[in-house]
Order: sequence, then structure tokens, then C-alpha cells
Amino acid sequence: MATIVRRPSVAVNVGGVMVGGDHPIAVQSMTNTDTADSAGTANQVMALARAGSELVRVTVNTEDAAKAVPHIVDALHKFGLPVPIVGDFHYNGHILLRKYPECARALAKYRINPGNVNIGKKHDDNFRTMVEAAVEFSKPVRIGVNWGSLDQSLLTRMMDENAKSPRPLAARDVTINAIVASGLLSAQAAESYGLRRDQIIISAKVSNVQDLVDVYRKLASQCDYALHLGLTEAGMGAKGVVATTAALSILLQEGIGDTIRASLTPPPAGDRTEEVIVSQQVLQSLGLRSFTPQVTACPGCGRTTSTFFQELAERIQTYLREQMPLWKSDRPGVEELKVAVMGCVVNGPGESKHANIGISLPGTFEEPVAPVYVDGKLFRTLRGDGIVEEFTTILNDYVERKYGVAEAEKVGA
Ligand code: SF4
Repeated sequence: MATIVRRPSVAVNVGGVMVGGDHPIAVQSMTNTDTADSAGTANQVMALARAGSELVRVTVNTEDAAKAVPHIVDALHKFGLPVPIVGDFHYNGHILLRKYPECARALAKYRINPGNVNIGKKHDDNFRTMVEAAVEFSKPVRIGVNWGSLDQSLLTRMMDENAKSPRPLAARDVTINAIVASGLLSAQAAESYGLRRDQIIISAKVSNVQDLVDVYRKLASQCDYALHLGLTEAGMGAKGVVATTAALSILLQEGIGDTIRASLTPPPAGDRTEEVIVSQQVLQSLGLRSFTPQVTACPGCGRTTSTFFQELAERIQTYLREQMPLWKSDRPGVEELKVAVMGCVVNGPGESKHANIGISLPGTFEEPVAPVYVDGKLFRTLRGDGIVEEFTTILNDYVERKYGVAEAEKVGA
């Protein structure tokens, strides 16, 4: 695995999932259903959990949403997918957590936004009330700063101080310092109200990659709280995926980040689980964790014949991902499997030999045969109409042979 050295942080237990310390970087996601719709929300939480989300956040914005939370958590247990649920609170969390103790109890963590919890007030009573609920119910919190809702009184104060300084910083730098200060001051306040350090996670999200990197580098150097990493409002499609990957990769490579989320905007009726797959893929591409077998495929070019090569690559990738829920328990280690699907003889055999299993399809003017390599050696040459089925059979046999757990082992004999 990778030689990235993780920044030391205090581990936090979030409903049984350990975040920080030496624990694997956790993948999390957030629903976009109306939480008051407990069935719809439970279904989406289960879809996210099945895709691999280890924590799922739901907004708790109304009394109906707070009432629905225990039902959602019950449904997850009933269906055997008890992923920890994080409550996302803004403005009225202090009221909802006190009025609905069943909600406070059912949640695995509370997200507090220090920028809007005491909006317009000179004291932090609302923040304190939420922290005291966390203490009472033994829950961790995430101090979730977001520059879109940054504490304006703190920012104004820091801007004023900066203006009086003999060497004033640029406004952008003061804003970044204010984002960091908001997180750290709130965490210190939470500790003074009774939370332990191992019950606090901080995030400080902005939507610009370079700003995010600066914010987290500062945060990481000034504390040992576990850090939740994410580029907020990353956007849609390739822009969202690439910006998220760019931002997270820089920080993860520096050992910063204990849990991540990809804040992607799905297209209307799009698949919410994409954000989970992107987070997993970022971690797996960096060699930090393995979640699913990886398919190496060439981009194709003028030497590629027809779309058969793309179809095969897509079918194999989809097949592997679909198998993972079944393989996870009885094919341990299969997530490390590497499969190559290549378009012609130029790089096909070479790349295939580097994978556990690889197939090199015939390019233009090549003989219509597809050599398959297993563990670096030519295993068989496929031809004709049944290439996909035969290759899938070879793949399944390999997985069974290499990662299959003997029946005796399964029953613990
Ligand atoms: S392996 Fe062959 S088909 Fe694929 S990109 Fe390279 S030259 Fe083109």
C-alpha cells in the first residue's frame, strides 16, 4: 500500500465507525431526500450504504424531520444495514435536539455549523445547548465550518484587526484565517462545555481548490482533532468530480484528512451513490484503501476496432462492482484484484501481464483473437462470439481460486 504518512489525530467513535487516528479514512455521504419522508430517506441511506458509504448524513431541519430520524434508524436495523446516521443541523438544532430526545439518541453524530447556530446573538447559548445534548447522549459532533455561512461577526472582527495591522494581509488570507479560527475556537468552546477531544471532528469547507488546500493545511498544523475533508459545492459532472479529486488528493497525499465526502450535484433523478464511488475511487487511486477490483482500460484510438472493446471494459467494470456486495464477505482480498481490458497489441499484452487478469482485444488489421493473461502469463486465446462470457468465466474461476474461502473456514472449523 501507499507510503503516505497520516497526520496524527485523535480517533473518534461515530456509532461504531472509528474516524481518525490510525483508522482507515472513512467514506461518507449525504442524502437529498426530505428527511420527514422516513421511508424515502431510509431507502436512499440504504442505497448509499450498499454503495459503501460508512456514515450517512441527513438534514434535520424541521420538527417532522427530527421525528422521522428514529424511524429511519429503526428501518436500517430492520433491513440489516445499520450505517451510522449523522444529523445535519442549522439554525434550530438547539431546539430540535432538546425537544426530540429520541432523535438525539438515534443519531450517531451531530453536525453543528458555528456560522449559523447563534446567528444575530452576542452569546453562544444555542451552540452550548447542542454541545450539552451531545455530552448527555454521549455523541460526537462535527464542527462544520462552511465559508458560505461563516460567522460574520468573527470575520468582521478579524478584518478590522487586520486593517489596523502595520502589514495587513489580503482579504482572501484573512477569510481563510477566519474559517480556521471559527473551527478551532468552536472546538475549544465545545471542550469547555464538556465534550472530550475524542468526540470532536472539524471540517472547514470552501468551494475553491487552492483555498481548501490552504485552509486544511493551516487547520492540520494547529490541532490534532480528526478532520473531515470535502470540497463544498463541488458542482456537476466532470467539473465536480475533477475539482473534488484535485482538492482531496493534494491533502490526502500530505496525510491530511480522516474522513471524506464528495459534494457532487447529481443531475435531476441522477444516482446519489456516485458521490460514494468517487470518494472510494479517490482513496483507491491514491493507494490509501481498496474497495473494489480495478479495471485498467486503454482509451482506445484509431487502432481500436468497433465499440466492442469499450463495451467489454464497461461490462467487466459493472460486473465487478455488482459482485462486490457478495464477494466482500466470502472473497476477502478481492478488492485488490486488477483486471486489464486493452484495445490492441501495442500496449495490450504488456498491460495485461501487469494485471492479475488481462485481455488484449484485436485492433485493426490484427488477427481476430484475444489473448488472455493470468498472473503475467498467457493463459488462453479467445476468439469468436463468446469472448465476453468466456472472459467472465475465467475471471470468476480466478476469483474463486485466489480469494475463495474454504467452506471449513467459513464455519470456523
Ligand atoms: S492499446 Fe492499442 S487501441 Fe489502446 S490506445 Fe494503445 S494503441 Fe490504441
